[in-house]
Amino acid sequence: MIAPVASPLSLVAKSAPDRHSMPCEASGGVLTIDLTALESNYRHLSSLVGSARCAGVVKADAYGLGAEVVAKVLLKAGCSTFFVAQLNEATALRSSLPDDVPLCVLNGVAPGTESLCAAAGITPVCNSLDQLIAWSRTAREMNLRLDTIIQVDSGMSRLGMSPAEVDSIAASPDILAPLNLKLVMSHLACGDDPDHPANEAQRREFDRLRAKLPPAPASLANSAGIFLGRNYHYDLCRPGAAVYGIDVGPRAHGIRPVVALKARVAQIREIPANAHVGYGFTFASDRPMRLATLMVGYADGWSRHFSAKGRVWCDDVALPIVGRVSMDSCSIDISALPEGKLKPGDFVELLGPHQSADAAAGRIGTIGYEMLTQLGHRYHRKYR
Ligand SMILES: *Cc1c(COP(=O)(O)O)cnc(C)c1O
Repeated sequence: MIAPVASPLSLVAKSAPDRHSMPCEASGGVLTIDLTALESNYRHLSSLVGSARCAGVVKADAYGLGAEVVAKVLLKAGCSTFFVAQLNEATALRSSLPDDVPLCVLNGVAPGTESLCAAAGITPVCNSLDQLIAWSRTAREMNLRLDTIIQVDSGMSRLGMSPAEVDSIAASPDILAPLNLKLVMSHLACGDDPDHPANEAQRREFDRLRAKLPPAPASLANSAGIFLGRNYHYDLCRPGAAVYGIDVGPRAHGIRPVVALKARVAQIREIPANAHVGYGFTFASDRPMRLATLMVGYADGWSRHFSAKGRVWCDDVALPIVGRVSMDSCSIDISALPEGKLKPGDFVELLGPHQSADAAAGRIGTIGYEMLTQLGHRYHRKYR
């Protein structure tokens, strides 16, 4: 007469719920992305560029914030050109955008991917003469008139055509004959330093090179370039970072923070003097301390470089990270808080009003861009 007992596994839904539909309590951290602030940043940047337009730069999953969601917000705000870095990012995003909205690949078209790129309706930034010739050949073979963007190297020596390559295009008009030249672009290396002489030098070189090509809309400025003034705006600007709330230099006013990150407390512990904390025993207490173990580690993009260097916040109190950051957790010293203030399940601020992504990144020698793009995939994400 023993009632059959359901195995715990039989209680689990047959198809696993996707991570994003799980309750917030199932995650070690909560990442909040303020889409209102993001949209406001985009509109603010657009208002600064006069009759020029702002494209949306949504490479690297929109700097870690979710390319599909971000692209929808930007579309609604009037954005009509999008950039990603790689072809696989473009193919993943293509169906989220209207067919007539250009989706462009900054890193160019790799040899052998031209027909894939053309069939998917994706516009490559041709960064070398070889790329442009291959793209032109693809247009002839597929009997299509394909859009193209040409990037010229105005001094950064990263991507784009050299002056000699630009001369070759100018000398062989048949290369461009089967193509629509939609944009000529280049990229600034020092835009976040408004007084750097490279800005003006790159702008002049950009003008010199594009004058050799058939007339086409022009684009030079990233986020920082927008704040350099009207001479840098041309027809299209390409802001990424500032849309996502990153600080792009001393003139970048009017940008609202977009990202907040909280970590959950797993445990509170009291340790005596001369106790060790974490891998490698790199920290030893010189007095009795109260610690909290947080459920966020380097697998979540909370860098191991924060070991002994980072801090988090509870209300207005800064709490130092002690010992090494582990893969899934890190320890903080909460001795400065009243006893009982933090309990298991409570949250502390990693990124937010007390510590921007730029400020946190600066403590470990990197930049807000890297901080955002490294944010992990285990957080509970809240889009506001
Ligand atoms: C990433 C990138 C941008 C956007 O730069 P931000 O500094 O994030 O505004 C613009 N143009 C090119 C070519 C890029 O690679």
